[in-house]
Amino acid sequence: MGIVPRKAVLNVKSYQPGKPIEEVKRELGLSNVIKMASNENPLGPSPKAIEAIKKYLGDINMYPEGGCFYLRQAVAEKLKIKPEQLIFGNGSDELIELVLKAFVDEGDEVVVANPTFLMYEVASSVHGAKIKAVPTRYFKYDLKAMKKAVSKNTKVVFIANPDNPNGTYVTKYELEGFLKGIPEDTIVFLDEAYYDYVEERDYPNGLDYLGKNNLIVTRTFSKAYGLAGLRVGFGVSNPEIIKYMETVRDPFNVNSLGQIGAIGALKDKEFLSKSKKMVREGKKFIYAELKAMGVRYVPSVTNFILIELCPKPCGIAERLLKKGVIVRSMKAWGMENFIRVTVGKESENKRFIRELKNIILQGRNIIPPEQ
Ligand SMILES: *Cc1c(COP(=O)(O)O)cnc(C)c1O
Repeated sequence: MGIVPRKAVLNVKSYQPGKPIEEVKRELGLSNVIKMASNENPLGPSPKAIEAIKKYLGDINMYPEGGCFYLRQAVAEKLKIKPEQLIFGNGSDELIELVLKAFVDEGDEVVVANPTFLMYEVASSVHGAKIKAVPTRYFKYDLKAMKKAVSKNTKVVFIANPDNPNGTYVTKYELEGFLKGIPEDTIVFLDEAYYDYVEERDYPNGLDYLGKNNLIVTRTFSKAYGLAGLRVGFGVSNPEIIKYMETVRDPFNVNSLGQIGAIGALKDKEFLSKSKKMVREGKKFIYAELKAMGVRYVPSVTNFILIELCPKPCGIAERLLKKGVIVRSMKAWGMENFIRVTVGKESENKRFIRELKNIILQGRNIIPPEQ
């Protein structure tokens, strides 16, 4: 007799993360590999986080603070919110999971954009949710169409602002228009993983809209703060939503080094502004080089750029990989003629451009799209 998983599990398309550097070195026999694939911070972790973690290493025999007490105080103070408005997760990915666990029954609907961050769909399908995917327009969320897609069976709407992989954002005006009239029993999940990188004046701070809707705003220490390996993210919402999410959370979901490191990183203003500056300058360089090559890209408010390379699938991600440059193939999104590249350090950006140029100039069957 064979084993049989839950029905929903049979339909899950697993999330394919970007390849780690060590794996690429091993598999391709390369010694010098750079990763520009998972929107990590190439400057390393915040030095203040490292310092805090080193001091704590002797205490990892103990279970962590289940409620993230000190981190909770630190984040609440920084964001000027009440500590009880917060929930912490093993990465902000876990908050997606907790919302679904707490609120979505098999057959309930969730609304997402297409393309967007794939975890919304992966996690929702694990829970047997019915997924309504609303196409983006010109690489931007179509919030009007997403609002129309909301029905009485819709439990959660996922909005990444800014979005991954598009790198675009919804404006204050667009978000306000969307939130107006969303049913009271629909949760709006506003994922602000790249909040710290956005410098546009009409970019909304999700925290300004708490209280009016059933909104949860999530952020992470994985991106601008450079702590992706520690897995710490948090959600801010109203006490009722938090209460149900807390009910389904594992007691020790955020590890102790993660909590300690995040407190350190939160204090590290210098590291944050250094990271933002690197991304700002890196984008400027990459944009100029792509323009000169006649390659189309989507202007980004984040630390990654979506790039269109050829009229049809042409395997650029694989070819860059052979040169030791890991970028994100867009195959999983069904956009095989695109890649997504994380803005790196100056030397990394230069190497990426150099290798890309070589491929484009040498590849007979690759024609850059018309501008
Ligand atoms: C990277 C990312 C996250 C979450 O990352 P965690 O490491 O789990 O905090 C969430 N949403 C989007 C859109 C992302 O790109």
